[in-house]
Amino acid sequence: SLQQPEGDQLPRYVRVNTLKTTVEDAIDYFKREGFSYLGQAYRLDDLNLKGKSFVGDLHLSDLLVFSAKTDFHDHNLYKAGHIILQDKASCLPAYLLNPPTGSHVLDACAAPGNKTSHLAAIMKNKGKLFAFDLDAKRLSTMSTLLLRAGITCQQLANQDFLKVDPDGPQYKDVEYILLDPSCSGSGMVCLRDEASPSQKEQDKRRLQALAAFQLHCLNHALRFPRLQRLVYSTCSIHTEENEQVVAACMLQNPGFRLVPLLQQWPERGLAPLTQCLRASTTKTLTHGFFVALLERHTAQSLEEQ
Ligand code: SAM
Repeated sequence: SLQQPEGDQLPRYVRVNTLKTTVEDAIDYFKREGFSYLGQAYRLDDLNLKGKSFVGDLHLSDLLVFSAKTDFHDHNLYKAGHIILQDKASCLPAYLLNPPTGSHVLDACAAPGNKTSHLAAIMKNKGKLFAFDLDAKRLSTMSTLLLRAGITCQQLANQDFLKVDPDGPQYKDVEYILLDPSCSGSGMVCLRDEASPSQKEQDKRRLQALAAFQLHCLNHALRFPRLQRLVYSTCSIHTEENEQVVAACMLQNPGFRLVPLLQQWPERGLAPLTQCLRASTTKTLTHGFFVALLERHTAQSLEEQ
């Protein structure tokens, strides 16, 4: 049976940067350093590791899983950009969006760039990756991360995504958007604490403001004329920022539908939005997280209705 992990007891997830190396080479490197590879995990409990053993993740093929508290921040592979230290749940958005090689992709709220670098790896560094962030400091951290990861297909802009013109000629071929907007961060296990009643009232107002911003971003993103698929994600556990934002957006944008995601994933969005995924410490051994995938209706899918 699974115990409830604290933030520092979650497994250490390591995403292999396939632009610089392969999963096999990364495994060999760790083995030569004295780690022991136990093969591919096939149930959740296989991710509860001890000492220097590690496994391949059971859902995501580019992900290796080590025991909690394994620290790779000074590791050669990390410094060389061969591995990215990223929670498993936060690998879902780019994996599910899955933009093809050569496509035009937009990352609306991109810094510090973990998901951007994952998108670039999936695109094999070919095509165009427009990435925006409002915060100049976070954007400069992002440049460093992308440089280290060998990414060259990106175009970074220190810009308010809500002011980006969807009809701008440079975006005419954008078919894929990743939207990971600012959220309460309530899914980050290390940030959780008990709130006082006045704190709760303040939190409620903050949640409402965040949800309004998130819906605004979603509606804006759906205005890109060639958009086919959009992934929306938060590291929040609050339905106000997750299912409620997506449900409101679906009502306002009948040209889009929700795509049912990963049947083998153990945790769904709250009913009726069960096409979406949730993640949590107890059910997926990750931080709390939410992902939705929206797709434009095709003429055929409208006929099917
Ligand atoms: N996707 C990032 C990653 O995986 O590394 C994390 C993004 S973080 C959850 C949200 C980001 O949105 C912050 O860096 C914040 O500065 C940025 N942001 C907030 N409002 C924005 C806006 N109006 N336009 C663009 N970026 C914005």
